[in-house]
Amino acid sequence: MLKHISIVDDDFQVTQFLSVFAKKWGYAAKQYTDVLNFLDVEHHPHEVIMLDLNMPNVDGVEVIRQLAQKKCRSALILMTGHDERILKSAQILCKEYNLQCLDILTKPINVSKLKKLLARFKQSREPQEPPRSAIWIPSKHDLTQALDNNELLLHFQPQVNINTGLVNRVEALVRWYHPQHGLIYPDRFIPLAEQEGLIDQLTQRVIEMAVWEGQAWWENNKEINISINISAHNICNYDFAEYLIRLFHDNKLPASQLSLEITESQLMMQWGASLDALTRLRMNGFSLSIDDFGTGYSSFSHLHKIPFSEIKIDKSFVMSMTQDATALAIVESCVLLSHKLGMTCVAEGVESQQHFAILESMGCNMAQGYYFARPMPATELLAWLSHWHGQRCHG
Ligand code: C2E
Ligand code: CA
Ligand code: CA
Repeated sequence: MLKHISIVDDDFQVTQFLSVFAKKWGYAAKQYTDVLNFLDVEHHPHEVIMLDLNMPNVDGVEVIRQLAQKKCRSALILMTGHDERILKSAQILCKEYNLQCLDILTKPINVSKLKKLLARFKQSREPQEPPRSAIWIPSKHDLTQALDNNELLLHFQPQVNINTGLVNRVEALVRWYHPQHGLIYPDRFIPLAEQEGLIDQLTQRVIEMAVWEGQAWWENNKEINISINISAHNICNYDFAEYLIRLFHDNKLPASQLSLEITESQLMMQWGASLDALTRLRMNGFSLSIDDFGTGYSSFSHLHKIPFSEIKIDKSFVMSMTQDATALAIVESCVLLSHKLGMTCVAEGVESQQHFAILESMGCNMAQGYYFARPMPATELLAWLSHWHGQRCHG
């Protein structure tokens, strides 16, 4: 189906050059050196638009806005001879406008990269994915039943102390095991729980399961602390801090064994209420971690006001820091900032030895990611831990 490419660039040599290749690969290529002509025509979903961001008359951002207004469903490839960061912000802008941006290319265009990109896109457009209606979308009723029938469970992912190589903390990540639809990941039901007023009940289940697993480890002298994820809605509920403090007190558990992770963006939405509850929790000995750090809008003064013990650098920066100088600089700044503020620094999304080596050289404290282990059920965790620590003793 994908047979059309529109190439929009004020430089005729560029449109000519790209259309020669497009034709060679079997596409019908249209060239536009005047962006106004391009904006006049209709575009269809099976078309790719290669768009230069630096053109006279109308700039690239304006073209993107106009395409969004026309509800354009073609796939865009953005090009510029300028700084790659400009391309990245334009890419984000496309996302905000619900436009599909395939990739960004700096000039001079790398032809083999373009060829691979088009081939990948063409393949993705072949009808091989199940139709959207085949993806099950849970309702409030389904989630209520899941809570009632104990269909939620936790998987645990180790966090490695970079200095010692030891693991004494795991992050608890919730999953839903549905009798018909199998294992469902949190991105598909946490937003539903938040919208439908079920998040307090869900978080309570998560805490109960985490404490239950934790107690079994702690009784076996396994010093494993647990991190759980909490939602801003939990924090706004004034009973939440009270509930946690009482639970740990009644079960004679040290609060230091539990870390609470809250994302930076959620925190900012509920600033006043967060400050109150989080300060109370911290005063009672729980560790507090800002999750997905770098993706939200926290100002330094906010960081200063809430007594966080830890910064968790978002995995998008960690995963791309080997190819992206900006991401690398962000990771390094987060490590420095956390140390200046006397906080622990955790990097998530550590997928390779190279990632690990960079973090170690920066002085990051903890690392979590597929390089060490994927999240796993509690039953597998103990075996994983003894293997991990055994290797370290003998290696
Ligand atoms: P998160 O807190 O940022 O958790 C990390 C996510 O990254 C997890 O996805 C984890 O499986 C994944 N991950 C870990 N290491 C790597 C890696 O090396 N590479 C890549 N690509 N991914 C990695 P998961 O389990 O699907 O959780 C998604 C999100 O759902 C979590 O993001 C968290 O925001 C939310 N979530 C999970 N459990 C709970 C919960 O009990 N309560 C609440 N409120 N939210 C939860
Ligand atoms: Ca987390
Ligand atoms: Ca995160």
